[in-house]
Amino acid sequence: MPAVISTLLLNHNLALVAVAALLCALSSFAGISLLHHARRTTGAMQMAWLAVAAVSVGFGIWSTHFVAMLAFHPGVAVGYDLPTTLVSLSLAIAIVGGGLWFATVGTSVDDSILAGAVVGLGISAMHYTGMAAVIVGGAIEWDFNLVALSVLIGMALGGAALWMARAATLRGRLGAPILLTLAICAMHFTAMGAAGFANCYAIVTEGTPAWLWLVLSLASILILGLAMGGTLLDLRDRRHGAESARMRELADAAVEGIVIVRQGTITATNRSFRQLVGSEADASGRPLLDFLEAPACEALARAPNATIEGRLRVTGGDIPVEAVAHEIEFQGVRQQAIAIRDVSTRKQAEEHIRFLAHHDALTGLPNRVSFGRQLNQTIEEARSDGRSCSVLCLDLDRFKQVNDLYGHAAGDALLRRVGLILQREVAENGYPARLSGDEFAVVLNATESLDAANRVAQRLLQAFADDMGAPEEDTTISASIGVASFPGDAQTAEQLMSAADMALYRAKQDGRGAYRLFEAAMSDELRDRRLVAHDLASAAEAGQLHLVYQPQVEIASGSVTGLEALIRWHHPERGEISPGTFIPIAEENGLILEIGEWVLRTACREAASWRVPLGISVNVSAAQIHNPSFSRLIHQVLVETGLSPMRLEIEVTETALVRDLTRAVTTLRQVRALGVRVAIDDFGTGHSSLTHLGAFPFTRIKLDQSFVRTFDHNRQSAAIVHAVIELGRYLGTPVVAEGVERQEELAFLTAEGCETAQGFLFGRPAPIAAFGGLQRQRAS
Ligand code: C2E
Ligand code: MG
Ligand code: MG
Repeated sequence: MPAVISTLLLNHNLALVAVAALLCALSSFAGISLLHHARRTTGAMQMAWLAVAAVSVGFGIWSTHFVAMLAFHPGVAVGYDLPTTLVSLSLAIAIVGGGLWFATVGTSVDDSILAGAVVGLGISAMHYTGMAAVIVGGAIEWDFNLVALSVLIGMALGGAALWMARAATLRGRLGAPILLTLAICAMHFTAMGAAGFANCYAIVTEGTPAWLWLVLSLASILILGLAMGGTLLDLRDRRHGAESARMRELADAAVEGIVIVRQGTITATNRSFRQLVGSEADASGRPLLDFLEAPACEALARAPNATIEGRLRVTGGDIPVEAVAHEIEFQGVRQQAIAIRDVSTRKQAEEHIRFLAHHDALTGLPNRVSFGRQLNQTIEEARSDGRSCSVLCLDLDRFKQVNDLYGHAAGDALLRRVGLILQREVAENGYPARLSGDEFAVVLNATESLDAANRVAQRLLQAFADDMGAPEEDTTISASIGVASFPGDAQTAEQLMSAADMALYRAKQDGRGAYRLFEAAMSDELRDRRLVAHDLASAAEAGQLHLVYQPQVEIASGSVTGLEALIRWHHPERGEISPGTFIPIAEENGLILEIGEWVLRTACREAASWRVPLGISVNVSAAQIHNPSFSRLIHQVLVETGLSPMRLEIEVTETALVRDLTRAVTTLRQVRALGVRVAIDDFGTGHSSLTHLGAFPFTRIKLDQSFVRTFDHNRQSAAIVHAVIELGRYLGTPVVAEGVERQEELAFLTAEGCETAQGFLFGRPAPIAAFGGLQRQRAS
């Protein structure tokens, strides 16, 4: 080691040594900067930048060596052999180049250290080849320990330099060139200490050849240039790095997936995109086609800034996406930034909305709109093929009552069960749909024979009857079906539906739970009903309506306690029409409110004029007691006519209560509060008679005539008459027996303890004039 220091201090021109060190530092700095830059590129570009880095460092080592040699005075004049000198330069560039390449492709810390050691080897190779170019007499005596040490120092410091150059941080950018400079200088001066020139003599006249000065000057300029270039590149890289980092942060913050694409190849992606495709791996370098289907890629290339739709390949399948491409300048080049949005949720929602627009939400069956379309289509098919097709209209029996008695949840469950049965039974040969409420319909395919409609109707009724539902649902399904066919029964979809409807109406009338095929006579009947409805609207005004009265008699004394007002319609052409015919029609089309008011007012006015203050009973329909102003109307009529509320009794049938029991009871309480009595009519014929008795304190029970009439040949009827009279007694509610025609019936009722009766035996319903004694007061 003393030899190294003494050689450096005594045999060197220190000013030139400083120049050598400066050149060395500049070339090292340039080399490391270029190495960093090469790392950011790929392929041929990377090899080119590595070559420039190798030239920089190679020239640096070489110039350092020769400037240091110029600074060296061994005591004899030395010359240089040009070819060997050039070989030493080539060796330096080649070996250093190899080391830098390995430092670029290597991935581990060990790879970097090994690469640096190769660079160190390159320094030694250059140095000792360069020494071989020295022209001097005699032999240079070598201290091989120092030679070995010089090689080791070069490799060790070279290794440390490239280890530090792994990161492009400030430490890496400054520390690595410093270490590389140290490696070159320390190797050189240690190796110079190993060379002994004591036995040498000069064989050249002139020391340093002019070409060496020239080459060294050129090399210095090259190094200076490269150092400046390296600095500029470094600055640019850092600017790009910062720009990229900012872009990445921005892109990662975006909710949409962003892909940067250059000529169809992905150069960058954001976090959302990686999450979208379900892979954290960077997709850079892969074609966009790997992710986005070809038509979408082409559309994006064709129409920048336009939103296109396509499918994105993701882990485990593909998803619908919306994408838009913009041209941007990224990393110094024009590229395509494609924003990709996952629209699966929106598509699902749209799909659902589309489904809801064509289906019924409760049963999932097609709705009326879809059914209409399908019906038209089937009719068209049948027409063009010369075939026929059939429609089945279904209506659930007593569905309203299920809803009222068991609640809407039970009603919904029932409709769902019907939906399932329809789907199961007819999905293969027809198109089932829910039209509204409890109305369903099926159009059978045009390929089905006419007979198929019969079979399907039977199969459905059987399936309904067999379906038990869940035990807690406690409702069995009963439906009526009407069937009509094209072209036999109708020519258009509308006519076909109306024909099936008429057949359904007949099925309902004939006792429900059955199916009926359309017959031409049905439409006559319906037309007739419509005519009746039409005439009824003006009947009251035309004075065609009048009331008849039927006495209610106290059995024990035979005296009349009250009269029931019963409506009659005298039609100018049809003659007398029974309330049994026209009241249901009036109830169906709402006319009952008007007619009911007329009955109430007429009956009260009439009763108010009687000499004897008998009771007056007025029948009211469901629509009337469900009308919120019903009690107000009664009050108004009582005030108007001056009839004492005590004398008025309204008769409500059980079926009128069923629709909405709570609401009906509320109205009845208001009526009771006026002092008006409320009787339950036709008792025993409705559903849950006892429920109704419990829900409201009726003032009278009118036992239905069907039980009275059949007491002597039907044991059940007799038992019911007995039980109802008992029940009335127990509840403290008087019972009126209706429809008493025969003495035997009267005797039976008397024996059972019934107190009041009504029927042909005591008097048929008759105009008030028939009760002459009553009207006398008016006359006087
Ligand atoms: P309802 O209230 O039960 O009236 C008794 C019905 O039985 C009356 O028939 C009456 O003529 C009939 N009748 C009475 N005694 C006998 C008998 O001994 N034998 C037989 N076979 N029948 C008897 P009508 O007048 O034809 O009325 C039928 C139904 O029409 C009434 O039954 C009632 O529910 C309804 N109705 C009648 N008038 C009105 C009205 O003004 N408003 C409303 N909403 N309904 C009415
Ligand atoms: Mg009645
Ligand atoms: Mg009755």
